[in-house]
Amino acid sequence: MKNQKDLAKLCIHTITTKPWSLEESLAHYAEKGIGGISVWTDAYAKMGPAKAGQLIADSPLEVVSLVRGGFFPAIAASDRQKAIDDNKRLLDEAAALGAPLIVLVVGADPNQSLAESRKQIQGGIEAILPMAQELGVKLGIEPLHPMYADTRSAISTLKQANDMAIAVDSDMLGVVIDVYHLWWDDQLQYEIKRSGENDLLFAYHICDWRVPTEDMLNDRGLMGEGCINIPQISQWVADTGFRGFEEVEIFSTRHWQTDQSVFLEKIINAYQDHA
Ligand code: ZN
Repeated sequence: MKNQKDLAKLCIHTITTKPWSLEESLAHYAEKGIGGISVWTDAYAKMGPAKAGQLIADSPLEVVSLVRGGFFPAIAASDRQKAIDDNKRLLDEAAALGAPLIVLVVGADPNQSLAESRKQIQGGIEAILPMAQELGVKLGIEPLHPMYADTRSAISTLKQANDMAIAVDSDMLGVVIDVYHLWWDDQLQYEIKRSGENDLLFAYHICDWRVPTEDMLNDRGLMGEGCINIPQISQWVADTGFRGFEEVEIFSTRHWQTDQSVFLEKIINAYQDHA
């Protein structure tokens, strides 16, 4: 029998069990001994971040990150300023929630080059870093699969994320590795090592790539349902000395339509067997 993985190092994103309220997610995750929760803004839209933070503080779970900020690039300077203001508001929300990290989906504007979008992303991050420092909330650049390079992320590879984080050179800025976005990259092992050597590895997200994938956004697979060699990538991450949470982040219309308690059992089994 193989060793059981420690559920205390398992974190689940609220979006993964989207049909549940935050209270329901906390109760069900805690009952299973899951150690962490990453909170999407929609999970506290009604109650506000302070109330949500209190609920989590009163639970045995640790808040791992707030998801998500970013979307910095825009051709119009006024839109870029609005993005900076929105991200500053989000930093206040992260502090109220007690989240030590905001995951950044950095954005892209298809009416300009990706290089120009990346410059604006760096500018946006630099504009909010002093506030991040003051609040003690870190920022993690999450590279997205290149199929999203039109509007969601001009940063498609871990190399690009590492390069930017190294250029900005702040303790508060690092990277977020998500196997769904990066599994195909032949430089992944090298870049994960580089993230580790530069103390940039802030978070690690897992799920699977279904074959065929029927929807670009909401057809992510449970670990083991697809073609990603998750144990291999997890090993590369562990080899850097990373001791953070393994975060299950699945957007799936298929799974959201099922009984979420049964789905949570499947997540735990998939985590034990395929991650
Ligand atoms: Zn992710």
